[in-house]
Amino acid sequence: MTATTAHADPACADKACLDGVDLPAVARRVGTPCHVYSASAIRERIDALKAALHGLDALVCYAAKANSNIAILQLMADAGLGADIVSGGELWRCLYAGIPAERIVFSGVGKTAEEIADALEAGVARFNVESADELQLLQRVASERNVIACASARINPDVDALTHAKISTGKSENKFGVGVDEARGWFAGGAALTHVRLDGLHVHIGSQMLSLDPIRAALQRVVDFWHELAAAGYAIRSLDVGGGLGVRYRAGHDHPVSIDDYVDAIRHALAGFEGRILLEPGRWLVAEAGVLLTRVIRIKHGQQRKFLILDAAMNDLLRPSLYDAWHDIVPLLDDSRSMQTYDVVGPVCETGDTFARDRELPECRAGDLVMIKATGAYGASMASTYNSRPLAAEVLLDRGHYAVVRERQTFEEMIAGEHSADQWETA
Ligand SMILES: *Cc1c(COP(=O)(O)O)cnc(C)c1O
Repeated sequence: MTATTAHADPACADKACLDGVDLPAVARRVGTPCHVYSASAIRERIDALKAALHGLDALVCYAAKANSNIAILQLMADAGLGADIVSGGELWRCLYAGIPAERIVFSGVGKTAEEIADALEAGVARFNVESADELQLLQRVASERNVIACASARINPDVDALTHAKISTGKSENKFGVGVDEARGWFAGGAALTHVRLDGLHVHIGSQMLSLDPIRAALQRVVDFWHELAAAGYAIRSLDVGGGLGVRYRAGHDHPVSIDDYVDAIRHALAGFEGRILLEPGRWLVAEAGVLLTRVIRIKHGQQRKFLILDAAMNDLLRPSLYDAWHDIVPLLDDSRSMQTYDVVGPVCETGDTFARDRELPECRAGDLVMIKATGAYGASMASTYNSRPLAAEVLLDRGHYAVVRERQTFEEMIAGEHSADQWETA
């Protein structure tokens, strides 16, 4: 059967192919579980986004947390993208991968003095500031180093992103950003900011948004505030519209906004703005380019339910456990089988280690290869070694070739840095 029609080359058109590469062969060579990403699919998204942005002074800052594998970041760097980072670790990764500091913006509510200093040292483009305390800290760290930090106020527009509560970030009850009233005070008090140039606004209201309405509402709040600030004489040079564009996790059910409609909404809302527009897409660029390959360990007939037990688990893909997220699951079989209803689970000792409940699938047997789809975003980047399960391998596919871009972790690597307690000291 055909796993996906996109990018399949004729040589393996009748097999389970992604980006011209035979997935069962990859699974045999690299082992399972393994995360697999199509470079062509990611480039297609980048090109579509760039085409939609034609004529705008826009910089795409890929949200590195969606998938921070070095090879993925290098793809972004090669395409001229910048990055949106949320930690010192992401700063380090992005610089290592060759994303220039002047294309990096730094978001997040918990930036430490050390992270801010490192980011200033590297020369990042801009800080998306999320609290008055952070603004003061940025001023202090920048003045100690005698540099000027560019900053945007992250506005919390109090708009419901109509997504899962755990990935909603733009309601006033959420920890992110500040209200317009507080931000107004920051601009009014700007004279005290000798080493911060506060000349931008930022908004990011949540993730996996499948409607333009909340996006339009959030943009409108920010645009109204920009107009107010401009009228009061403050120069706004950067408007950052965040990320959050949703993708199709469930075929025939999810209906994502088209990239052209999304960019049109930005174009329309920001009409007349003469500074630079920043975008921070994460999921939209990488989610649908990735699949998780896993094998069936066994079928267990429980007292009430039938369990399909895979060799992948919540430590490899947390989204179903954390967000009750749906992922399409496709067994890669070369014969036809009757349909069965399974609870699809991993080996981890948690009831939450469940990828799907009551899922209709072709009957599976031990050893069958199964593909969990749309795992390119918030998959490997959220992985852990819970239950002492080493991190899975990651593989990049590109037009008929594959490259391992993360080796499967060994047990030795898994315990690296751990010690027996033989060096006691007094604090
Ligand atoms: C996570 C995040 C993004 C990316 O969100 P996606 O839903 O993956 O597009 C963008 N900006 C900020 C500030 C974020 O925290």
